[in-house]
Amino acid sequence: MSTVTAPAGPTVHPAGDNLLEITDLVKHFPIKSGSLLGRTVGQVRAVDGVTLSVRRGRTLGLVGESGCGKSTLARVVTALQPATSGSIKLNGTELTTLRSGQMRGLRRQVQMVFQDPYGSLNPRRRVGSILGEPYAIHDGPKGKDRQQAVQQLLERVGLSSDHYNRFPTEFSGGQRQRLGIARALALRPELVVCDEPVSALDVSIQAQVLNLLEDLQDEFGLTYLFIAHDLSVVRHVSDEVAVMYLGKIVERGPVESLYSRPRHPYTNALLSAVPDPSAAAQRGTSTRIVLTGDVPSPAAPPSGCRFHTRCPKAQDLCSQEEPLLRPTPEDPEHVFACHYPVAAGEPLSIGTWSESAQAAVPRRAPSPARTSITKNREGSA
Ligand code: SF4
Repeated sequence: MSTVTAPAGPTVHPAGDNLLEITDLVKHFPIKSGSLLGRTVGQVRAVDGVTLSVRRGRTLGLVGESGCGKSTLARVVTALQPATSGSIKLNGTELTTLRSGQMRGLRRQVQMVFQDPYGSLNPRRRVGSILGEPYAIHDGPKGKDRQQAVQQLLERVGLSSDHYNRFPTEFSGGQRQRLGIARALALRPELVVCDEPVSALDVSIQAQVLNLLEDLQDEFGLTYLFIAHDLSVVRHVSDEVAVMYLGKIVERGPVESLYSRPRHPYTNALLSAVPDPSAAAQRGTSTRIVLTGDVPSPAAPPSGCRFHTRCPKAQDLCSQEEPLLRPTPEDPEHVFACHYPVAAGEPLSIGTWSESAQAAVPRRAPSPARTSITKNREGSA
């Protein structure tokens, strides 16, 4: 019997360090002229100096509008695209300088769940072949052992071992996303990058898939970089949240702190769009913020603060000087980049999560496995 099987048993990680550390990461795409020589005439600044870290066994939610660079960041972190500059460290190992032969080990540690459960599975291959491929590439079990490992994976993600011989087209959207999660889980990765994993699913199915991801995190101590544009979803699954706008992080912090007291006007506006049942209760003291105008082109980002062309609080300084990330007085882990942040006492957006709203729609409670991860980290800090 092979030793590479479907994951089993909780993983409690040692000491509380960061699994993933991203420092000043840049990903630019050259814009070529239409001439024969194809000269570079500009750069699309998709990711432009991002610094983030993700704690072991935790979830960092990354939010922002379409085109803000979230998915590009995900593809660079998973080495599907090379970085232009900057550093990505996983378990302290620099990934941006790995040669192709060394990438093989990285593939075992970092896996991705894609947004589109229809497009990310080859419709001409049977489930057994799709889920068995990671084992084939990484010298995993063969023959009957591989089949057994795949069938264990299927059962672990809520499908049946009888699905082994089916084609992806025989599954619903939610079931296909479960297949995508099973494929990501096959090699027991440490980091799973989830790129909008539920945005293509019906709302009722979204909850099932989110619960599955949470259960798997608790059971195997997975670390998630969870990318989404739905702030309700991100709040539910995340421990920390980073808000991205035009290639830069504009606010970052523990989820409760950021959702209850956002400092950046862009975060405040995003929260305003949350279809939150508790929002109605706040209508007397809060306001709906509607952003006007389109997101500027990342090929020609605005000067100073990149949000100043759409910001309701913008003043002259905003177009002249880029604000740097700085901590809030209450929480050094909650940082924001704004010259004129949302002040205490200022009306918050209608979707902001007051204490009563947080009580009405609680986040999931940490499971024993997840709590022990935290305790181990805190105990060693
Ligand atoms: Fe708005 Fe100015 Fe703050 Fe930018 S720096 S978010 S433009 S107030």
